[in-house]
Amino acid sequence: MRIFIDIGHPAHVHYFRNFIKIMEAKGHTFFVSARNRSIIHYLLEKYNIRFWDRGKGKNNILGKIIYMLVADIKLLQKSIKFKPDILISFASPYAAQIAWVLRKPHIVFDDTEHTRFAPFLYKPFSKVILNPSCYYKQMGRKQFRFNSFTELFYLHTNYYIPNHEVLSLLGLNNDEKYVLLRFVSWKALHDIGHTGLDFDVKEELINLFEKKGYRVFISNEAEKTEPFLEKYLLKIPPEFMHDVLKYAYLFISESGTMASEAAILGTPVVYINSLPLMGYLQEEQKHGLLYPFSSSFGVIKKVEELLSFPDLKKTCQTRSQTLLFGKIDPTGFLIWFVEEYPTSLKILHKDPEYQIRVKSENSKDKGLKICSRCILDTTVSDILFDEKGECQYCKIHDEMERLHPLDNSSKQGINELVAKIKYHGRKKPYDCIVGVSGGRDSTYTLYTAVKLGLRPLAVHFDNGWNTEISVKNIKKICEKLNVPLYTIVADWEEFKDLQIAFLKASTPDADIPTDYAIYSVLYEVAYKEGIRYILNGHSFRTEGTSPISWTYMDPLYVSSVHKRFGEIKRFKSFPHMTFVKLIWFLFVKGIREIRLLEYIDYRQKEADQILMSELDWEYYGGHHHENMYTKFFQSYYLPTKFYIDKRKTELSALIRSGQINREEALKEIKSNSYKNEPETVAYAISKLGITQEEFNKIMNEPIKSHSDYHTYLELMHILKWPIKIAARFKLVPQIMYLKYAK
Ligand SMILES: [Zn+2]
Repeated sequence: MRIFIDIGHPAHVHYFRNFIKIMEAKGHTFFVSARNRSIIHYLLEKYNIRFWDRGKGKNNILGKIIYMLVADIKLLQKSIKFKPDILISFASPYAAQIAWVLRKPHIVFDDTEHTRFAPFLYKPFSKVILNPSCYYKQMGRKQFRFNSFTELFYLHTNYYIPNHEVLSLLGLNNDEKYVLLRFVSWKALHDIGHTGLDFDVKEELINLFEKKGYRVFISNEAEKTEPFLEKYLLKIPPEFMHDVLKYAYLFISESGTMASEAAILGTPVVYINSLPLMGYLQEEQKHGLLYPFSSSFGVIKKVEELLSFPDLKKTCQTRSQTLLFGKIDPTGFLIWFVEEYPTSLKILHKDPEYQIRVKSENSKDKGLKICSRCILDTTVSDILFDEKGECQYCKIHDEMERLHPLDNSSKQGINELVAKIKYHGRKKPYDCIVGVSGGRDSTYTLYTAVKLGLRPLAVHFDNGWNTEISVKNIKKICEKLNVPLYTIVADWEEFKDLQIAFLKASTPDADIPTDYAIYSVLYEVAYKEGIRYILNGHSFRTEGTSPISWTYMDPLYVSSVHKRFGEIKRFKSFPHMTFVKLIWFLFVKGIREIRLLEYIDYRQKEADQILMSELDWEYYGGHHHENMYTKFFQSYYLPTKFYIDKRKTELSALIRSGQINREEALKEIKSNSYKNEPETVAYAISKLGITQEEFNKIMNEPIKSHSDYHTYLELMHILKWPIKIAARFKLVPQIMYLKYAK
């Protein structure tokens, strides 16, 4: 295949260099025309790409129009000789217009929404317009969005390996932190009338960085540099630029492309540019990697705030992993697209998701690592993989499956269990307790208990966040199953205080006040009513095991967070389960917690059917969305602040238990992202009674984990063996040993 590529900007060299290299190796031939800018020519030579110089270009509009006509004629002569089969460019009017004259297809890339002039010049003459998925402008029929960033043409882990040597080139000592500033010349067509940082702010920033002990480097696009800035100028070969960005502690940028590169590489960026914010920068902003400003105003304050975060760089590295999750390798995609064109276009029109498969066929994804069996990935910070690429949570599943097999022994097991429960409750009004939330799992547990002939007492803990559907569900099911309901309503002021304390603690397990209260309430009621058995709706087959870095809970942890961040010093009514009480309940009173659903072949879809038809139960949409706080927490707080998608644990469990396949689960995670409803967030803020400012502070607080507070985790490791034995004798749940102590 004969391919014509036009290059007008240094970034374009990076976009196409891997493509050219791989395609040449496959036997394709290229003609590359390049605008005359020293850095473009330098890079092309550096990457060993032969090119033809198409002249310098002008900076004013009239000059640009004249240049375009002249360049068109010159390029047309060249291309008539070259006879291309296809032309490719990044928003190049020349390539588009020549293609049109030659009656050959032109594939154009663009990720810059605010350029009006360029699309006007290339759009009518191009066959396909390829935009990254975050590009928000509608380009009509010719548009196709690929799920990636243009920067990944060269920064994808298939191509980019960070070079540590740059640090010695910069003359840095070990662990010396540096900040990079990038100023642009404001001469590009779309820059006309726009500006960035004021000079005095540049000066103030540099003084601030130096005062705080950061080395400062400046990269300046303009030919002239103010004398004050000269000594900071970066003096390294341009091919090291991405490494400088990669290792910088903070990046101050007027350039959109470099801002995006830094964000992708996990370096936080303060971006100053009065142009409208482009789609890719918006996406990076959403992930907490980029802080945009339209003028100098507020920049210093933001920089000071960022520098005060203890683990800024580490946090941003995790954020960039999440930003890049599921993004395809655009070079691999382009290779397939060009080689198969025009069939490739037809395939994509029919099935846009096909691009994911292209990626896996073309390249090895070395980005975010996903378990080879389930879909848990390295967003779970404690994840470990074995030589087959399976995670430890899959192993926990297998161990649980071994302990709770669904065969004849399970039928016998459940019969024995029911007999035991009945025996211990024979002289009492109830023989077991079932905690109910109105959701699927707890409802089905209650339903199953009744079907098995047990006499449960339903207990509901109302934390004040119930949805209307869940209230209706609880009422309906208890009436239909003829089970008495005991509701404990939380003291709102106390409960709210604990919820806010956990938000301020900045850990991903900030929803445990509810779980913890439910847990305590169930034991308290069991104790008071003299009931030995608590049945809960957990099952490793449908809910999975929540990774310890995502959810951790113990009495000491709850009280240490409350002590540090709570406003109400002593709780009067909050159900607090102390360690001593727990020991008393478990070992003296012999209260047992049973995961009833683990004894039966519990399948979500079938359960829904049964509950809807027999109990008139209503689905509430989304995992655990029966509660407004859980909804806010799982669909907004966790994904936005921690990049945690809790559906991964549930879908992983369903994969392991054969209820869905891995492809379906991956598709679900990618395509059907949580509906981020602003009203859910507004509701949560107003209900908690905090201001928007306080909430923003919570969202921007650096990420912590349970290990930053006092917990019993260490004690549990010490008591590993007693816990193992207790679990063997079913005194404590098996999962307690497998997850916490082992
Ligand atoms: Zn796994």
